[in-house]
Amino acid sequence: MSYISTRGQAPALAFDDVLLAGLARDGGLYVPAAWPRLTPDDLRRFRGLSYAELAVEVMLPFLGGTIGRDDFARLVTDAYGSFAHQAVVPLVQLDARTWMMELFHGPTLAFKDVALQLLGRLFDHVLAARDSRVTIVGATSGDTGSAAIEACRDRDRVDIVILHPRGRTSEVQRRQMTSVLSSNVHNVALEGTFDDCQDAVKAMFNDAAYRDALNLSAVNSINWARIMAQIVYYVAAAVALGAPDREVAFAVPTGNFGNVYAAYAARQMGVPVAKLIVGTNENDILARFFASGEMKADGVVPTLSPSMDIQVSSNFERLLFDLMDRDGAAVATCMAGFRETGRFEVSQGQLARVRDLFAGHRCDTAGTLAVMQDAYARSGYLVDPHSAVGVAAAHAAGLDPSVPVIVMGTAHPAKFPDAVEKATGLRPPLPRHLADLYDRPERMDILANDIQILKEYVRARSRVARINA
Ligand SMILES: *Cc1c(COP(=O)(O)O)cnc(C)c1O
Repeated sequence: MSYISTRGQAPALAFDDVLLAGLARDGGLYVPAAWPRLTPDDLRRFRGLSYAELAVEVMLPFLGGTIGRDDFARLVTDAYGSFAHQAVVPLVQLDARTWMMELFHGPTLAFKDVALQLLGRLFDHVLAARDSRVTIVGATSGDTGSAAIEACRDRDRVDIVILHPRGRTSEVQRRQMTSVLSSNVHNVALEGTFDDCQDAVKAMFNDAAYRDALNLSAVNSINWARIMAQIVYYVAAAVALGAPDREVAFAVPTGNFGNVYAAYAARQMGVPVAKLIVGTNENDILARFFASGEMKADGVVPTLSPSMDIQVSSNFERLLFDLMDRDGAAVATCMAGFRETGRFEVSQGQLARVRDLFAGHRCDTAGTLAVMQDAYARSGYLVDPHSAVGVAAAHAAGLDPSVPVIVMGTAHPAKFPDAVEKATGLRPPLPRHLADLYDRPERMDILANDIQILKEYVRARSRVARINA
């Protein structure tokens, strides 16, 4: 199994190199050179497996022998042992033909844990085999930082520094990061905005000597291994609801297009998927694309579902690559044009092909609150505002009623208590594993927005820098 770049210029790499590289050297994203196939018999064989057992079966072909089966099974079992539900990603029936797959029982209450809990362990394993280390730096406006910290805490080969804008995250978000006291975890409360945090991280990566001295790395959403880990739950949901003998549809609350791209990958592997419904909030660039074939960036407006407030969906490039018949040069031209003008367009033929599988649906604030209110009134079920956008998309899709629709539940309602309270009057309590969050001691360093100070701070906490010095 080798991986190729969507822009056609970077060298093909094996899984372990793709894991550590993240972005390809030509600016593209790595995808498998060919999709492993799941036959109908494979899917039947999967019935009755635990989530961890299924995860090993689905992901092993993607590793191409770079990690042995027993080692991998140990990492997977350990990763999903950190979830608060025995089923890891339980399926809950919402109405006659709609299900919610709850992807939010991980340590930080959002679906990113499903991939990141495994990713941190994969990093450690591959780095140990090479006797190497990395320093991970990242900027967060609140949510992704905690998932990255939980993924990397106590990992022997990884030091992680996360910058957040001081006083500008919610208290829950801050505490989810700063209450992790592991010696390899460092939280910086920067005197500045989220953009200042991002600029500081970019400046570190752009300093080649610094980057190499610290072996800087990121765990961002374009990392192939995150997509790989997300494919598993689409296979699990389809098998639970009748694959290979019945088609299913998925409704996915979407931002960077990583989650729904994993559903596409599952279909490419042979899972019978009738439709992929992309749910967006008011930041509806994707819904507009699936309607018109034109991708046109607009300003970002804040919504009830902040993890979907995006301007450009970075993982869309992976779908574009297939839509352009895997012509890397054509993708590179298209992306260069997009960077320059903020827009690109696919042909009518390409649009017809993409719409064969995908549909987009926009849900605004009023629609989001209405879904949350309705679910609570009907069954007492609390839905977070991101997952609510998915439910709205599922209901709007107008599919054949014999096709079950599975909504991806991307956040726990307790992660967005203000929106839930607004819709239902009920303030959801934190689940048991986080119930004492407000009593836990915190550790963070408040630093000025000064790149020299920040660079020195990270260098002093990087075990790589210490060994290289
Ligand atoms: C990240 C996130 C999303 C968006 O997922 P993408 O893979 O970026 O499309 C949706 N909901 C929640 C709660 C998230 O954290």
